[in-house]
Amino acid sequence: MSSLVDALERVYIKFKRAHFMTKIPQETMPHSPVRLLCTDFDGTLFDHLSQPCIPKPLLEAIQRLQQRGCLWMVNTGRDKSYLLESLLPHCADVYPDYLGTVERELFHWNGHKYHQDAEWNRSVQTIHDDLFKTHETLITKVGQWIRTNFSAQVYEDPFSPVCLIASSQEEAEIIHEGVARITAEVDQLAWVRNDVYARFAHVSIHKGSVMREVARKHAIGPHAMVAAGDHFNDLPMLDRRYAEHLIVPSNSMPEVIEKARREGGYVANSQAGQGLLEGLTQLGMLEAAMKDPNS
Ligand SMILES: [Mg+2]
Repeated sequence: MSSLVDALERVYIKFKRAHFMTKIPQETMPHSPVRLLCTDFDGTLFDHLSQPCIPKPLLEAIQRLQQRGCLWMVNTGRDKSYLLESLLPHCADVYPDYLGTVERELFHWNGHKYHQDAEWNRSVQTIHDDLFKTHETLITKVGQWIRTNFSAQVYEDPFSPVCLIASSQEEAEIIHEGVARITAEVDQLAWVRNDVYARFAHVSIHKGSVMREVARKHAIGPHAMVAAGDHFNDLPMLDRRYAEHLIVPSNSMPEVIEKARREGGYVANSQAGQGLLEGLTQLGMLEAAMKDPNS
């Protein structure tokens, strides 16, 4: 499966480079005030019910930001293959510089394909292996409790010994409360929820910590960072200690909108990618990006 996605990745990139790539000399550009734009994928950048799924003016704005020195990171709960399956056909010739996947792994675009950050990924893997081994009995108990009491789908994958697909938001909410009760004694174990999906993770490894790792690598401070998200698993990165500029689209969960308001972030009137573009515009992040380099 991953080799098929890798092959698709190479074909798409080759095709787009041949047909669409336009190069503008970077030295002629005014610098962007944003140095790291970190966006969630589903519901923030990408809306599978819209056509196109990612608004073209948003991709153009992001490309202009990148040309002015801004890094773009897509930070998602999807794994890399599943993300690229949806991202590559819709990203035109605009590639995120970084991918944060399954709320913990990190990949870097090298101009040809995405390479894993081996040191970071090994480290988060070890942390999770130790965590899941230490609390194996409790995690098994959670899986059995869900299977016995709900119609939700429960399975194991390489990232969590118990993963959930609930049949509804309401069921996901009830299960979330139950898991919190069963695991209340274990501070390090987090139940990471996104829509009807959930998995276990270490409480200190989340979208916020992956975003901060990218900021650390490039010595980018919170004042030059924008974070945008719409769901529960985005809450750790929607924090002004780490990114001073926050954007949440109108389709965000009420808890996410409430946190953004509390943190002084921008709550958009429009949904997903349109909301992200609205936020970037309203926060004045695109002013330098939209200036004609020849003017
Ligand atoms: Mg989302």
